[in-house]
This record gives sequence, C-alpha cells and structure tokens, in this order.
Amino acid sequence: QAKAEGRNTYQIYNETMDAESRRRATVLASLRKALDRGEFRLVFQPRMALADGRITGVEALLRWHSAELGEISPVVFIPLAEESGLILPIGEWVLEEACQTLKRWRNHGLTELSIGINVSVLQLLRSNLPEHLTQVIEDTGVPANRIELEVTESMVMQNAEQTTNVLNELRKIGVSLAIDDFGTGYSSLVYLKRLPIDTLKIDKEFIGDLTRDPDDEAITATVITMGHSLGLNVIAEGVETEQQLSYLREQGCDEIQGFWLSPPLDSHRCLAFIRSWQPGTVAAIPAPY
Ligand code: C2E
Ligand code: MG
Ligand code: MG
Ligand code: MG
Repeated sequence: QAKAEGRNTYQIYNETMDAESRRRATVLASLRKALDRGEFRLVFQPRMALADGRITGVEALLRWHSAELGEISPVVFIPLAEESGLILPIGEWVLEEACQTLKRWRNHGLTELSIGINVSVLQLLRSNLPEHLTQVIEDTGVPANRIELEVTESMVMQNAEQTTNVLNELRKIGVSLAIDDFGTGYSSLVYLKRLPIDTLKIDKEFIGDLTRDPDDEAITATVITMGHSLGLNVIAEGVETEQQLSYLREQGCDEIQGFWLSPPLDSHRCLAFIRSWQPGTVAAIPAPY
C-alpha cells in the first residue's frame, strides 16, 4: 500500500515537474524573440518624499506582452532572462529606453526627477555596464546623478566581493545605487557598511502588514534607523494605505512608493501625473484593486 502510494506521489511530482519545465521552455522560446519583435515596454512608478510631498523620482519597470503568450509578469520572465543570459541585451534596452524617457521629461521641465532602473547581478558581473552606462549618459545628456541603479539585496550578498568592485566603478561615473528588496536577503552589516550605496528600499513584504503585524513594524523601524545611521536614504515600497503611510512618516522614512501614490503608468500618463501633482493632494489615480 505504502509502496503504491509512494510510486503515485513520485509520478504526480514528476508529471508536475515536466509540465513546469515545458512551460518554462515555451516562455523562454518566446522570450528569445521578444526584443527583436519589440514586445517590451517600460512603465513608470512615481515615488514621493515624506518631508514635503514632492515627487522625487520614478522607477522604470519592464513589461512584456508576448504575441503567443499574452502578458507575462516580470516575476516570471526576469528569472528566465537571468538564467539564459538574455537579461544582458534586455538590460541594455531597459537602460536606453529609461534614459530616453527621462530625457523627454527633462525637456518638459522635470529636471529634478530621478529615475530608478533595476539591474540584474548578471549585468554587474558579465556585461560592460559601466561602459554602456557612460555611453547612454553621453547620448541622452541625462546627468549621472539622476540615475539610480537598483540591485536586489540577495543578489549582491551572494557575490559581495565581485559586485562591490563593479558598484565602485559605477559610483565613479556618478550614478546613485540602491539596494532593492531590503530585508529579504541576508545582509552582513559589514558589507552593508562597505558597499558604496546611497539608498535602501524596504521590501514590500514588510510594508503590507504594517499597523497589523508588530514584527513587521519592528523590522521596518529598525531598517529606517539603521539606514539613517549609515547615512542612507530609506524608501518604503508597496505602500498601499494611509495607515502605512502615517506609520512610515512617524518613523522618519524618507520616501514612499506604492499604489497609495500611484500604480506604475505608461510614460505619457506618468508625465501627466507628475505635472498635475501638488504636494499635499491625495493620490489622484485609484489603485488597481
Ligand atoms: P521591484 O524592483 O522590487 O519592483 C517593485 C514591484 O512592486 C513592481 O512589481 C511593482 O509593480 C510592485 N508594486 C508597486 N507598488 C506596489 C504596491 O503598492 N503593492 C504591491 N503589492 N506591489 C506594488 P513588478 O513590476 O511586477 O516587478 C517585479 C520585479 O521584477 C521587480 O521588483 C524587479 O525585481 C523585477 N524587474 C522589473 N523590471 C525589471 C527590469 O527592467 N530589469 C530587471 N533586472 N528586473 C526588473
Ligand atoms: Mg526595484
Ligand atoms: Mg523591490
Ligand atoms: Mg520586490
């Protein structure tokens, strides 16, 4: 009996794995063609300073609409792009597109705005990121200090020695550096002190239950205090409610990003949002839920 059950379990497990790897192969096949087919686009999510309600910047977020598969989430395709190395050409496209967009917005007078661009660790380790970045800055005329590269905590910590060198090189160009999804990896405080970073972005996992879960409140408050004592700018991501906002303001968090302010928007809508934003107004665009 037990033996038969064991075999069944094994079979089901095996079939599930097969279905999953078939799906991954399908997605990967489409992903290989996506750049040439022009299936990528960027959306932009504003962030706001809590001190004065100013919009300080936006984060560029990649979207993929596949001809065969429809809309696929970055949570699904970014890991595949990283494993396959496709993130290298895709990452170059993101950098160029993001800086071209900021250039247009700057022509509309938004010269104080920064742009956050997500960078995969493979781009840090395998690509000519510093050279490419220098070229893009030259081509677009966007000042280096308006560009903030975001690297996830877990990725940096897995390769702390190597990434530190590249981050130092990027810093020399004049761009800012942010640690993304902070709190979900295992940062050694020694490295955190040593890394040439400007900003910590507290992962939305901790923000979602603020004012309901005392543990998440304690973690968030601690990260804010620690970030400030290291001289870092602290941003909370995934802020959805007024209560979360108040808590973060009380704790002295510097900036917030999340559906409370605005969901990610296409470049035209984001420009319109920023231009119509008055510090002190409530979020003008309702969250998508
Ligand atoms: P991330 O960099 O931490 O980006 C924040 C994610 O939170 C985005 O998901 C955003 O849409 C979502 N978000 C924003 N506000 C809220 C909120 O109030 N509530 C909730 N629940 N979620 C919110 P998205 O766009 O699906 O991106 C997921 C992840 O994919 C990003 O996490 C980033 O790690 C990666 N990613 C996105 N674009 C790129 C890219 O161009 N290059 C690389 N390497 N990774 C990217
Ligand atoms: Mg990010
Ligand atoms: Mg994040
Ligand atoms: Mg995240």
